[in-house]
Amino acid sequence: MISMESAGAGLRGRILVTVGLITASIMILMSWGMLYNWRHSLLRQETSSALAVSRAFSVAVIDALIASDQDLNQSEGFLGNYVNMFMEQDPRLRAITILDADGTVTARSWDRSNPPWVSGTLASLIAAQAPTTTIKADDDGAWMLEIVLPMYTGERRWGVLVMTTEADSIRSRVRRAFFQILLLSIAVTSVMLLILWLMLSRILGSLQALVSAMDAVDFNSADIPLLPYRRDEIGVLYKHFHRMQKRAEQSRRELLAAQHLVWHAERLAAIGRLASGLAHEINNPINGIRNCIYAIRNDPDDRKQTAEYLQMMDEGAAHASNVIDKLLGFSRKRQAGFEAMDLNNAVESVLRLVSFDIERKGLVLETSLDPNLPPIMADRQLIQEVAMNLLINAVDAVEDRGRIDVATSVGDDGVVLAVSDQGHGIAPENLDRIFDPFFTTKKTGEGTGLGLSICLEIVQAQGGRIEVASRLDEGSVFTITFPPAAAKSDQENSS
Ligand code: ADP
Repeated sequence: MISMESAGAGLRGRILVTVGLITASIMILMSWGMLYNWRHSLLRQETSSALAVSRAFSVAVIDALIASDQDLNQSEGFLGNYVNMFMEQDPRLRAITILDADGTVTARSWDRSNPPWVSGTLASLIAAQAPTTTIKADDDGAWMLEIVLPMYTGERRWGVLVMTTEADSIRSRVRRAFFQILLLSIAVTSVMLLILWLMLSRILGSLQALVSAMDAVDFNSADIPLLPYRRDEIGVLYKHFHRMQKRAEQSRRELLAAQHLVWHAERLAAIGRLASGLAHEINNPINGIRNCIYAIRNDPDDRKQTAEYLQMMDEGAAHASNVIDKLLGFSRKRQAGFEAMDLNNAVESVLRLVSFDIERKGLVLETSLDPNLPPIMADRQLIQEVAMNLLINAVDAVEDRGRIDVATSVGDDGVVLAVSDQGHGIAPENLDRIFDPFFTTKKTGEGTGLGLSICLEIVQAQGGRIEVASRLDEGSVFTITFPPAAAKSDQENSS
């Protein structure tokens, strides 16, 4: 039986990998987009609040610079204190630098040997015309946010305020968000794949049931197993499969009926072929009886003769009735049925019928039936029909006073029936065609060309095989091998 396990695993695996890849790609794109937007808004938020703080601070610085316009020394000390105070208030502040309009550093929070510039050089900061924000990692990998704010009152430029603040918290928030989104993506993808896997398992399970039902279909049985009712598309598939099985069963029955008609017709045709021998067989006793009647009529008082002739008439009538019984036994249309049967017995009953023809033609019939033959599981009437066809062909092939051998034996792989003749043999080019329906080399009215094709069909239906060996002008051997009854029932049990 073909299992859906291997095929299903491939299909399931492919669907899972495809859907998994698509879902993972979509999740990655979505996560990347979300993360990008979120990071962007976080930075905007952070820079705008840092800018607001710088602007607030710059107001005081401009005041101090205006004051310095009148008294520089006082303002320098004031700005330095102011920068230090502001630095202490916000631990995230790393550096504050105040440049005056000439680009001179008037106040700073940092060591002269270690300038805190993030975005560029002192010269580029002095030249800044509008507020700028820059985020960059420093040498230790920590994120720094630099605000460069030119200070104006109306048209008057007072200098530039440079404020550097630590932005590492943004980075850690972005990183945390990244891991959260990653986990969410993995969870969503896994749940989707799990649901898909369960659904596929259900579908494949249903298909497996259909495959098992298909495997279980026995075209020789009228039994049609019913698949469970389902409302989905697989249910429709089940329904159509069931209908197809019913149609197949109907065709099987019609075919069987037609086959039996053909077999019966062929059997009648075989009897027709034997008719002259049989007629002779019936005519002889009838002639004998008429002679006896004539003799008794002539001398009715001879009681001894009358008694003797009556006895002969009785025997003659019994013989004729026996022939007719054999004829009817062979031609009667019976229901086909398998049974453990004795092949020798079936062959003998056919030989009795054909023997009239054999004798009439003056042929030599040698029989060698193995008395230890095991029974075969077959339809007795069909086996008789096969033996009859082979024997009629042999009789037809052999010239007067030729020889026919009929033997049964136990072969390597079954019970063997061999019918050999010393007839005209079969031309090599015809060997492949003799089992074809309607192939005949006999004259019109003598052969139908159906005998061997029916034999082949019957033998194969009984689980056997038929072989032929023939040499032109030397003779032919038809060998049929049937599985013994025990082997056949074992085979049926295991299948
Ligand atoms: P039919 O006997 O009606 O012709 P069969 O199917 O029985 O149909 O046989 C087909 C042909 O096979 C025969 O016409 C004959 O040519 C050939 N044939 C069958 N059996 C023998 C045989 N024993 N010897 C020679 N030829 C044979």
